[in-house]
Amino acid sequence: MNLNTIAQVKRPKSFEDVEWRDGHAWLAGGTWLFSEPQVATDTLVDLERLGWPSLTATPTGLEIAATCKIRELAAFRGPAAWRAVPLFQKCIDSFLMSFKIWNAATVGGNICMSLPAGAMISLTAALEGICTLWPVGGPPREVTVVDFVTGMHTNVLQKGELLRKIYLPSAALTKRFAMRQVSLTHFGRSAALIIGTLGDNGYDFTLTVTAATPRPVQLKFTKLPSAAELRQAIEERLPPDAWFADVHGSAPYKRHITFYLAEQIRAELS
Ligand SMILES: Cc1cc2nc3c(=O)[nH]c(=O)nc-3n(C[C@H](O)[C@H](O)[C@H](O)COP(=O)(O)OP(=O)(O)OC[C@H]3O[C@@H](n4cnc5c(N)ncnc54)[C@H](O)[C@@H]3O)c2cc1C
Repeated sequence: MNLNTIAQVKRPKSFEDVEWRDGHAWLAGGTWLFSEPQVATDTLVDLERLGWPSLTATPTGLEIAATCKIRELAAFRGPAAWRAVPLFQKCIDSFLMSFKIWNAATVGGNICMSLPAGAMISLTAALEGICTLWPVGGPPREVTVVDFVTGMHTNVLQKGELLRKIYLPSAALTKRFAMRQVSLTHFGRSAALIIGTLGDNGYDFTLTVTAATPRPVQLKFTKLPSAAELRQAIEERLPPDAWFADVHGSAPYKRHITFYLAEQIRAELS
């Protein structure tokens, strides 16, 4: 859609060139920004010319620039030891999108939208991602992806603050994983997207619950729990009012399928 409140589009070549004020909005792929009126915005600040390398793999991990496109992430092939890389495609496939969104949307844009069904949130939270944020006029700060999202469409970003990159440590990328995702309708948004990761010899099990809850919820275990231990841990962490109800599923439905899918994940990894 045409955004008829926009008077200017700025294309800075460095973050320092930006003089942030109310009415500015960062423009990444624009797939959400251009999908509805932005009445409080008069200036878009395009991130594309900042020229950040999309994907940088090192022996210690993978750095994903916020501006990395979903299609670039889909094309990534890591070293064989990074057993979790196939999870990238699985999460991308659960992101409901047309070819236009596929080609334009960015990993950072999806995380900053902070929607429960944000598949890039599910992926990077499960792989123990760490966000680097650039505040206006302050030093960079780091926050885990799990803590970045604070609720439905809310996050820790302060006014004008930029998500610069997400770092996935090699220690998480080398783990085995299992994922389950369901939607109430065939091409609907995720009602639950749940990922389990497990280190070698059955140690270090992490379960990440997304879409069924307003923000990512992560449960960590020293070793793979029994079915009863897993169920109890979910019950303790997520009381009946902690679930996200919307047109894609009621809270009791999402709670029910989370127990069901979490047990499938546990069994697959055991
Ligand atoms: C048809 C359709 C289907 C969709 N389906 C889904 C779905 O299934 N799941 C889901 O999660 N989402 C869905 N979305 C919304 C989706 O999250 C976005 O379209 C997409 O992920 C946003 O990415 P983008 O790069 O285009 O961001 P933009 O539209 O450019 O920006 C999105 C928001 O994030 C801010 N922003 C972007 N990058 C940064 C940054 N680096 N630092 C700080 N702020 C930033 C922008 O200012 C804006 O507020 C859908 C949208 C549409 C139009």
